[in-house]
Amino acid sequence: MTAKIIDGKSVSQEIKNEAKFLTEKLKAEHGVTPGLAFILVGNNPASEVYVKNKTKACESLGFYSITERMPENVSEQEVLDNVDKFNLDERVHGILVQMPLPKHINEYKVIEQIDPGKDVDALHPFNIGLYTESKSWDEIVEKRLLLPCTPYGMMVLLEKYGIEVSGKRAVVVGRSNLGGKPTAGLLLSKNATVTMAHSKTEDLAAVCREADILVAVIGRPKFITKDYIKPGAAVLDVGINRTEAGLVGDVDFEAAKEIAGWITPVPGGVGAMTISMLMKNTYLAATRTTNEKTS
Ligand code: NAP
Repeated sequence: MTAKIIDGKSVSQEIKNEAKFLTEKLKAEHGVTPGLAFILVGNNPASEVYVKNKTKACESLGFYSITERMPENVSEQEVLDNVDKFNLDERVHGILVQMPLPKHINEYKVIEQIDPGKDVDALHPFNIGLYTESKSWDEIVEKRLLLPCTPYGMMVLLEKYGIEVSGKRAVVVGRSNLGGKPTAGLLLSKNATVTMAHSKTEDLAAVCREADILVAVIGRPKFITKDYIKPGAAVLDVGINRTEAGLVGDVDFEAAKEIAGWITPVPGGVGAMTISMLMKNTYLAATRTTNEKTS
């Protein structure tokens, strides 16, 4: 068997096209331009690239965007003050503090300072609570909740490729707040039977082989070999690992695609969805000021 390749790049483009169309409508009918503010602390080259790419996406969709750059040695209070400034700025519907922050700044404190309605990364405990307390995916969609971008992107990929989730066994390897935990929560809302695995899980390969949907969000190059995969399973690879051979995922893609039913490549799979879902969240946050319905 050779797996169907899940093309995150093309689905991502679809999401952006839709967001662009809806943004034009929002501007014409309500005079509202979705706005996204970035707070970038220090000179981390990866963070610079991420913010640049997100800014470009804003431009291509016709969003307003603004970046507040702060030096590495900025005080925690100054970062909090900037968050407050954007909380009050009516042009700004979404605030993104690019992580990681320097060690002397408490990331939780900064996230909690963001107005939950503008928390387009969906990392604020209030937003985590809202989607966690929801009884179903339909309720999440109906309430137009902000969802963490990468896990949200995975749910969209599963939908677009018609991969059944309800009643299926899902195993998520990795339990970070940004990756594994919200992914497990969203799969649960779609009625999967979810197992969360991590570095202390015994006989991980056997646990993974039970999965109809296997999500790897670990940060270890090619860690998931074909021995971890149930024939026909959907394998979603969140890992982004820079190696001498280039960018690779957490899954040994070449071997895994011979046994999986569906698989995301790296790059061009899950990672390609993240910025689009950020744009979608920002649009969603902007529509809350007008009650505009969204798809
Ligand atoms: P993280 O915070 O370091 O978490 C890694 C998780 O993997 C932890 O829960 C850890 O378990 C688990 N783990 C580590 N070694 C393991 C092992 N040998 N067996 C089983 N589990 C193991 O990393 P993260 O932020 O979630 O990111 C993970 C990967 O996803 C990275 O490559 C990152 O770049 C990528 N990522 C991509 C996107 C995107 O595409 N936009 C977004 C987020 C993350 P313990 O908890 O027990 O330590």
